Amino acid sequence: MRRNIVSLIKFVVIAGLTISCTVLTFKIIRSPEYENNELILVPSFRERDKTVRIDYHDTQKIFADKERTGLGEHGIAANISIPEALKKSLYDQNGFNAALSDLISVERSLPDIRHPGCKKKFYLKDLPKVSVIIPFYNEHWSTLLRTVYSVYNRSPEELLVEIILVDDGSTKKFLKQQLDDYLKVNLTKTSVIHLEHRWGLIRARLAGAKVAKGDVLVFLDSHTEANVNWLPPLLEPIALDYRTCVCPFIDVIDYETFNYRAQDEGARGAFDWNFDYKRLNLLSEDKKHPSEPFRSPIMAGGLFAISAKFFWELGGYDEELVIWGGEQYELSFKIWQCHGQMYDAPCSRVGHIYRKFVPFPNPGIGDFLAKNYRRVAEVWMDEYAEYLYMRHPYYRSIDPGDLTLPKSIRTKLQCKSFKWFIENIAFDLVVKYPPVEPNDFAKGRITSAIDPELCINVDNEKQNTRIDLKTCSVDDPKLTFSLSWHKDIRVNGGKMCWDVATSHKKAPVLLYGCHGDKGNQYWYYDEKHKWLVHGEHDKRCLDADFGRKQVYMSVCDKNSPTQKWQFEIVDSKALESGYQEKL
Ligand code: UDP
Ligand code: MN
Repeated sequence: MRRNIVSLIKFVVIAGLTISCTVLTFKIIRSPEYENNELILVPSFRERDKTVRIDYHDTQKIFADKERTGLGEHGIAANISIPEALKKSLYDQNGFNAALSDLISVERSLPDIRHPGCKKKFYLKDLPKVSVIIPFYNEHWSTLLRTVYSVYNRSPEELLVEIILVDDGSTKKFLKQQLDDYLKVNLTKTSVIHLEHRWGLIRARLAGAKVAKGDVLVFLDSHTEANVNWLPPLLEPIALDYRTCVCPFIDVIDYETFNYRAQDEGARGAFDWNFDYKRLNLLSEDKKHPSEPFRSPIMAGGLFAISAKFFWELGGYDEELVIWGGEQYELSFKIWQCHGQMYDAPCSRVGHIYRKFVPFPNPGIGDFLAKNYRRVAEVWMDEYAEYLYMRHPYYRSIDPGDLTLPKSIRTKLQCKSFKWFIENIAFDLVVKYPPVEPNDFAKGRITSAIDPELCINVDNEKQNTRIDLKTCSVDDPKLTFSLSWHKDIRVNGGKMCWDVATSHKKAPVLLYGCHGDKGNQYWYYDEKHKWLVHGEHDKRCLDADFGRKQVYMSVCDKNSPTQKWQFEIVDSKALESGYQEKL
C-alpha cells in the first residue's frame, strides 16, 4: 500500500516535471497568450541580418525552362483539338478547360514578364522560411499538381519548409489516397490535410496555418503557377518588419487556352460600398519605382504572404466567417488598423486561372456572404458600416453571431479606427467610391429640342449596342438616362455607359461598361446651347440624322438644330459647380 503511494507520488512528480518541461520548451519557441481563457500560441520571429543581400535566381533552372518545347510551354496559348464531349464534361466540373490542362506538362515553363528591374534585384541572404498553404475544393488533378510543381521548382530549396494542401471535403476520388500516394513519391515536402466536410476556404486555410512550421505563411489558390524567383520579393519586406503582409502580382492564366499574361502593371486594392472588390490607380511615387513593393489598402484575397507571428497575433481569420467572402476585407482591415502594413510586390508574379464560371453550387446554408460581411463591418468598420447597410438595408436584420472574440482582439491590440484607415491608407477610395453618391446632374428622357417626339434610344443594354433615335413612348424604360456624378451617361442608372471610342467623323456612341474614369465616357450637358458634349479635351457634340434615326458625334456648331437636346430633369446648380473645369 505504502509502496503504491510512493510510486504514485513518484509518478505524479515525474509526469509533472515532464509536462512542465514540455510547456517550458514550448514557451521558448512560442509565447503563449490567453484570450478569453483560450490559449493562443504566437510563434516567434527572430531578428534577421539586414545587411547581406544575394541573387536568388536559379540560373540553371531558368535555362532549363528556356529550352523546353511542347504544348503550352512558355505560357503560350495552346491550340489543339479535344473531343467535344470530354472538353465539355471537364469544363462543367471546373469552370475552365481542364481537358486542355491535362495535355500540358505540369512542369511547364512560363514567360518572365517581370519589370526588367526585377532581374537585377538582390534580396536578403537571411530570409525567413516558408510554409505554402493551398486549400482546394474539388480541384482538377493537373491544375493542382501544376500549382505544387511550380512552387517546388521555382522556390529556393532552403526557404521552402513544406507545402500543405488542405482538401476541403472534396468529393472527387482521385483527391484522396491517389493524391497522397503520388505526393509521397514525387513531391516529398508536400502533405495533405483531408477535412471530412467542406468547411469553406477560410477555415481550410486556417487548418493549414495551424500546423504550418514555417516563419512565413504563403497562401495560394489551387490553380495557380508561381513564376520565376517569386518567393524572395514576398519575404524581404516581412524579414524587415514582421507585421507585414505581401501580395504577389496576380497574372492571368486563360481559362480556355492556358495562355499566361499580365493583368496589368499593378494597382492598389480597394472596395466599393457594396463590398465588391475594386482597384485604385498607383500613386505617382509608386510609379517612379516600378520594381519596388507599394502599399495596397486591400488584398485580392487568395494569394499572399504573412509572418505566422503577425497572423496569429491578429487571431488568424475570424473562424466564424464561413465558406468564402469578406475574409480579404477582414484581414486587410486588421493588418492596417492593428499596426501592420500591406504591400504588393511587382517582382513576385503568380498566375491564376480566373474561372469562366463557378462550377460548384454553394452549400445550402443560407446567405452566408451577407453574414460574413455583417461580421466584418460590425467589428472593424465603426460608423462606416452604415454605408454598406444603406445600400443593403437587410444586412441590419442579419444575426452576425457572437462577436466577442474578434472584438476582444481589436481591443487588446489597440487597433486604430476605420476612419484612420480610410483617411491614411485608402484616402482615394472615397473619392472614386463616395460613401454617399452625389445626385445626378441630369436625368430622365433625352429628346430632340426641335422635335420633342424624338427620343434618344438604346435597344438593349449589351456592350457595343449603338445609341440611336426613336419616337418617344411614355413608358418605355429603355429611354431613361442619367448624367451621373462620374460625368458619364448611364442607361437606366445601371452599369452601362455611353462611350465614344474613335475620333472619326460621325463616330457612333456605343454602350460600354461604366468605368468611372472619364476618357471615352466623359460627358457634359451644356444647358445654354442644349449640347451633349463629349470629351474633356477634344470636345464634340451629339448630333443626329433625323431621317435615318441615327446619332453620332460632330464638331459643335451653335447654328445646328440637330445638336440640341433636352434632358427631362436638369440640376443646373450641380452642373455649374460640378463642372468647374468647363467654366
Ligand atoms: N476553396 C475551398 N473551399 C471552398 C471554396 C474554395 O477550399 O469551399 C478553395 C479553391 O479550391 C481555391 C480557393 O479556395 O483554391 C479559392 O477559391 P476559388 O478559386 O473558387 O475562388 P476564386 O479564385 O474564383 O475567387
Ligand atoms: Mn481561384
